[in-house]
Amino acid sequence: MEIKPLPAAFNEAIPILATIEAAGYEAYFVGGAVRDVILGQPIHDLDIATSAYPEEIKALFHKTVDTGIAHGTVMILDHGQGYEITTFRTESTYTDFRRPDAVVFVRTLAEDLKRRDFTVNALAMTKDGQIIDLFQGLTDLDHKMLRAVGNATERFHEDALRMMRAVRFVAQLNFRLETATKAALKADASLLVQISVERINVEFTKLMLAPAAATGMLQLVVSGLHHYMPGLAQKEVELSAYAKLLAGWQPINLSQAWTALSFELGLTAADAHIFLQQWKHSNDLIQTVKTSLNLLNKLRLGDVTDWDLYTTGPAIETALAVLNMQQLAVPTTTLSNRYAALPIKAKADLAVTGHDLITQLRLRPGPQLGDLLKQLEAAVVGGVVVNELSALLMLARTKLEEKK
Ligand code: ATP
Ligand code: MG
Repeated sequence: MEIKPLPAAFNEAIPILATIEAAGYEAYFVGGAVRDVILGQPIHDLDIATSAYPEEIKALFHKTVDTGIAHGTVMILDHGQGYEITTFRTESTYTDFRRPDAVVFVRTLAEDLKRRDFTVNALAMTKDGQIIDLFQGLTDLDHKMLRAVGNATERFHEDALRMMRAVRFVAQLNFRLETATKAALKADASLLVQISVERINVEFTKLMLAPAAATGMLQLVVSGLHHYMPGLAQKEVELSAYAKLLAGWQPINLSQAWTALSFELGLTAADAHIFLQQWKHSNDLIQTVKTSLNLLNKLRLGDVTDWDLYTTGPAIETALAVLNMQQLAVPTTTLSNRYAALPIKAKADLAVTGHDLITQLRLRPGPQLGDLLKQLEAAVVGGVVVNELSALLMLARTKLEEKK
């Protein structure tokens, strides 16, 4: 098979392959880019594999960066682009199910392709667009089939992350798992405990954001992988329900995906905090999910107040997106109109400051001042008073009088 013409992303890298070949080595495009070009899908990262050792590559190019020299990867900087060039390698014995004990450089493409996870990921392409297919990857691509290279059980024992990659690719490519690969996944799911949460997170998040997320999620549940993922053991009912929703709705970012998941799991904001910490998410993401979840959980019980919308703040976007996939009684347009109509969106928009209260009303800094400001903020949000300094000072005076 020959790909012609090659998309621009490949064309720009051809001089790099040509330079390596002119020096007497081999060089090929490998990995996801080759798979995706055959599928007619957009290309993101280009991976190049070569028979040259890293030091030999570095001698050929002016600007290089040692991005992963221990694994044989050198980055070549060319017209503002970075290209990762990796020396053909095998991964010798794996004793801990996740990391090869040693990376061994080899000089043949065949040995390099043999260590790759799935047949559709083990294709190579020359700079002229000729496809090299040693494991019937093209047939599997044609049949939309994800099949481990060689013996699936052995491959998952070598590196248990491949099991997560399997369900992630099912979701991204909308492929089916080949029978033996599927059986091995089911039998070996427990090996996932060997893999770090961060790496599981990367694959699981990609799955949730993928076009066929529903299929990937169901495959994950059927395989039993969820039992070895933080907070998801025994959650097959909830995950299957989420899968159903994903069939008709696609999250477009991390916060939407994880808020929807937390909501389907029936978590409170406090539960979600622990759950997302277990998954090693950033504090930013945790805050957004918790805030959106708070609003969603209130909506589950009925209507919400303007104050609820106000305290949700910018996280309202996530909450409304997730709400869209749910069949809750409150229409999202009404909520977003109400949010848009709020007189202020944040405390900084309030026309009175603590300093104003201190100077104009002779108040002292302290809890009483904070409390008064909070009351004024709530009054503006609730439409009790207009957001103007004089009106707010007047209301503040009244409130202080009431207290006396
Ligand atoms: P994506 O579209 O997400 O970039 P990809 O197939 O390019 O998908 P990468 O994670 O970028 O995936 O890896 C590049 C290639 O390296 C894969 O196509 C595969 O050949 C090989 N590979 C990556 N991770 C593994 C692994 N854990 N085991 C075996 N081979 C792997
Ligand atoms: Mg890639």
